[in-house]
Amino acid sequence: MKLLVTGGAGFIGSAVVRQAVSRGQSVVNVDALTYAACLNNVESVVTSPLYAFEHANIQDRRALDLIFARHDPDVVMHLAAESHVDRSIDGPDAFIRTNILGTFNLLEAARAYWVRKGKPEHFRFHHISTDEVFGSLPSDPAAKFTEDTPYDPRSPYSASKASSDHLVRAWHETYGLPVLITNCSNNYGPYHFPEKLIPVVILKALAGEPLPVYGDGSNIRDWLYVEDHADALLTVVKNGTAGRSYNIGGDNERTNLELVKTLCAILDVKQPKASGSYADQITFVADRPGHDARYAIDASRIGSELGWTPSVTIEQGLERTVQWFLDNEAWWRPLQLREGTGMRLGRTG
Ligand code: NAD
Repeated sequence: MKLLVTGGAGFIGSAVVRQAVSRGQSVVNVDALTYAACLNNVESVVTSPLYAFEHANIQDRRALDLIFARHDPDVVMHLAAESHVDRSIDGPDAFIRTNILGTFNLLEAARAYWVRKGKPEHFRFHHISTDEVFGSLPSDPAAKFTEDTPYDPRSPYSASKASSDHLVRAWHETYGLPVLITNCSNNYGPYHFPEKLIPVVILKALAGEPLPVYGDGSNIRDWLYVEDHADALLTVVKNGTAGRSYNIGGDNERTNLELVKTLCAILDVKQPKASGSYADQITFVADRPGHDARYAIDASRIGSELGWTPSVTIEQGLERTVQWFLDNEAWWRPLQLREGTGMRLGRTG
């Protein structure tokens, strides 16, 4: 099976690329190399004959047509996106252009290719999406996002992802394109770009800087180790039923404050400070506008239908992640110089 992966130089896409190649699958990685990309993420596979890279923007239809013709993929796994909620508040236009118009463009290129090939049954267009399209949950622990939860996006990011999910579903209903959609909770792990909460906390802690916690830190997120997400995506693309969507999550709800304190406790053991705890650096800052209170995923469909379960607990995953950042300063240090990285963004007026 030959995979065309968009966004394969990003955080999750690169995990998919690395895992697919290590399982003997051919991969063509299509990426525009935005500020969030890092080709070092796929360094371990660049010399493999199974790997190819195409520097292209998904908004460029002609480039996509050439890539489909050149590589003849069996499957598209679409991860390319603008992904940072705070940046979507400051500059929503890039999110509309890539996440909505880019997905439309990719759908059309994939449909033309699929028709030209005689509509092969095994073809799949897999859209990788987020649980943020479902909005915010009440604190009742029984309330979780299922695949039937109505869409209720609140941020420009989640609205753009909801729009692209709708386009993908429409291309299945209208044109018969064999699509799959997955909606996943928050990811963390190696190669996490240093603008997202977990790497920001680890790196600011090590730098002796304040650890910013939005609002009172009570917002709840459901965390999944990125390698487990990549494994789930490769499971869905192989065995999922066309036209179906699957929620992916690790059943690991934590308040942001609990999460930050856990990271501090891990660092206290691995790299103790001269005095005190890293938790002493925690600083509460103004909340994000429209900050969703709680996300939690019901992942029973992917478990019962496709047999997927996560391989690590959040404690194991966080411990591995902290160790990875301690061991890979040469990876993260240059990325901190990229525009806006590690700064407070998305406060509106
Ligand atoms: P990321 O920001 O780390 O990487 C995105 C990649 O897409 C980058 O390599 C970037 O260069 C590329 N890209 C951006 N615009 C492009 C364009 N116009 N054309 C081609 N390439 C382009 O993102 P991520 O965190 O790895 O997320 C990947 C996907 O998974 C996204 O679709 C995101 O919505 C979804 N998702 C992310 C999470 C999460 O916790 N990070 C959770 C659920 C779903």
